Amino acid sequence: MAEWTDTNITYLKGVGPKRAELLGKELDIHTFGDLLEYFPFRYVDRSTIHRIADISGEMPYIQLRGRFVTFVTAGEGAKRRLQALFTDGTGSIEVVWFNRVKWIQENYRTGVDYLLFGKPSPYQNRYSIIHPEIDVYKPDQATQGLQGVYSLTERLQSRSVTSRTLRTLVTTLLAQPAAALLRDPLPQHLRDTRRLLPLPQAVRAMHLPADYRELQRAQFRIKYEELFVLQIHILRNIKRTASKAAGFVFATVGEHFNRFYREALPFPLTGAQKRVIREMRHDMGSGRQMNRLLQGDVGSGKTIVAFMTTLIAIDNGFQAAIMAPTEILATQHYETISALAAQVGVNVALLTGSTRKRERDRIHQQLIDGELHTLIGTHALIEDTVQFRNLGLAVIDEQHRFGVAQRAKLWRKNVSPPHVLVMTATPIPRTLAMTVYGDLDVSVIDELPPGRKPVTTVMRYEPDRERMYRFVGQQLRQGRQAYIVYPLIEENEKLDLLALEKGYDDVCATFPHYRVAFVHGRLKPAAKDHQMQLFATGQAHILVATTVIEVGVNVPNASVMVIENAERFGLSQLHQLRGRVGRGADQSFCILMTKYQLSHDTRHRLEVMTQTNDGFVVAEEDMKLRGPGDIEGTQQSGVAFNLRVANLAQDGQIVQLTRDDAEAYLAHDPDLTTPEGRLLAHRVHQLYAHDADWSQIS
Ligand code: ADP
Ligand code: MG
Repeated sequence: MAEWTDTNITYLKGVGPKRAELLGKELDIHTFGDLLEYFPFRYVDRSTIHRIADISGEMPYIQLRGRFVTFVTAGEGAKRRLQALFTDGTGSIEVVWFNRVKWIQENYRTGVDYLLFGKPSPYQNRYSIIHPEIDVYKPDQATQGLQGVYSLTERLQSRSVTSRTLRTLVTTLLAQPAAALLRDPLPQHLRDTRRLLPLPQAVRAMHLPADYRELQRAQFRIKYEELFVLQIHILRNIKRTASKAAGFVFATVGEHFNRFYREALPFPLTGAQKRVIREMRHDMGSGRQMNRLLQGDVGSGKTIVAFMTTLIAIDNGFQAAIMAPTEILATQHYETISALAAQVGVNVALLTGSTRKRERDRIHQQLIDGELHTLIGTHALIEDTVQFRNLGLAVIDEQHRFGVAQRAKLWRKNVSPPHVLVMTATPIPRTLAMTVYGDLDVSVIDELPPGRKPVTTVMRYEPDRERMYRFVGQQLRQGRQAYIVYPLIEENEKLDLLALEKGYDDVCATFPHYRVAFVHGRLKPAAKDHQMQLFATGQAHILVATTVIEVGVNVPNASVMVIENAERFGLSQLHQLRGRVGRGADQSFCILMTKYQLSHDTRHRLEVMTQTNDGFVVAEEDMKLRGPGDIEGTQQSGVAFNLRVANLAQDGQIVQLTRDDAEAYLAHDPDLTTPEGRLLAHRVHQLYAHDADWSQIS
């Protein structure tokens, strides 16, 4: 039976063949249903018109009413822009466009009353608005309250299809009787228990909300449906693939593990460490391949957990591999782990890009012979030339730097894929991990070893530099060490290196009686190691560096982390850097140096750092601010969910709720064969039929 929602959009009043083609091409709107689901991406409160004279401080998006006085083009080539002066009688503001210059000039003129909508930002002592939305002022529309703004392409705008056009079309469509009878894909009992708005009402309110309250209820309902359907899709995929990957059975916890636990443990494990080891023992004994993500904040003690997990593999006659993203980190793991391993007679070797040929050959031979139990290294250890006798477990530290292809290589190292333990200090919320990685199980070390003091974090501006140096000096006099970190990114490499070198000179001049080590990615490995070693052994008191020290380095005597141009770092990165201090028993400090003028968002972002030491909170904030698409690791997971309304980062609670509800639903209708289930299956199919079977990649 053909459904009303499948009706071709050309049958809608106001849409001729030309416009239909345009809507199809530009917005993928082909049917009535497509149009109804094309929701505004933002709502503006058009009940208030601000006065230019009242603009001050940080402003949100606001509405202004006034006229353009002048239009002037400036700049050349890629920097060409159009600048206009806009006034409302109380003052004037600059309006700037970087593209569509010609179109703007042809379509907007001086002397006409316009409504402008945008975010004023301070620029050189005055305010300007970049790329505002512009409507000709009409008295009746100005006071309409909440109004949806639709995302439109340039091409649509140049054919004068605006937000208002879409609003009119949707209004026409919603007036049809069938619009009140939309079929709801959600099971009735969920609609009841979760108090969800009926679908027709929710759809109407998404487009034409009466007020904020109604809009919020509608958004909740639509997000809920979107995430519930997604979870049904994911859970059914997991079920289909779960049985596929058989794993080596590590049936026993044997001699090495037990001896280490009884005789060589350097400190009592925390409760969280014990729990996580138990979880992995269970996985690896189950006959299914383990795919586990271990999340634990910086300094939570993941290394020893990884080591003890490798002992379980060894006790069952298998070899283990531990991979780290950088040479520094691999080396540090090797140093820590080989010391532990030596106590129980386990053979460990290090393989990196700079391992000499002879050593490399020896390692290859011992791997094949089975003489070597554990190989630690960088990417070098998954190269095709590296053959294990019997690889049973791979530990990957900092998973976000390992791509899917690299993991696939690992899988081919034995007749069955080895168990995989992925460790990360950049936690992502559990529900998001499950949603993004599908069948990856998640363990969390949510407890730090005893005696750690939270790092005190402060923000300081350039004029405070003297004071900052004085503080660092005090710490040095107390025998402590300090890191001073500079940003270095490729696009800006030349300038960044200059700043770094200048910083180094400054620090040397400021602290003439102390030794300063200097490390950046441009140094040869040997030189880098030498400098790091100077700092690690306490011969150097200050380490001026780029983010090469971000992961790994463990110098418990360091008590100060100064981060220059902190505004240029992401939150997770700042948290990682901060994790380099606070490793000893004394109070440690993290100082975020920034320029004085920060945007509202940047200030907010940095304030998160001063307010919490909890990596999970930091990660969640990071995601809220940047969106999960930007979070390292989520992109390469290869999953394109195409969520229209919900946001995996911001709607964590709904993600969890729908996860639980979807599990409960599938428990009684696993194959979606009831009448309600079939409706749901139809919806899943509509949205995800084109998805590749991605759930195996993690
Ligand atoms: P991360 O999780 O960041 O990799 P590490 O494994 O490097 O953390 O551990 C950080 C420090 O804490 C190391 O010096 C380690 O020896 C120490 N440590 C780990 N677990 C414990 C524990 N249970 N009790 C005391 N110290 C611990
Ligand atoms: Mg670590």
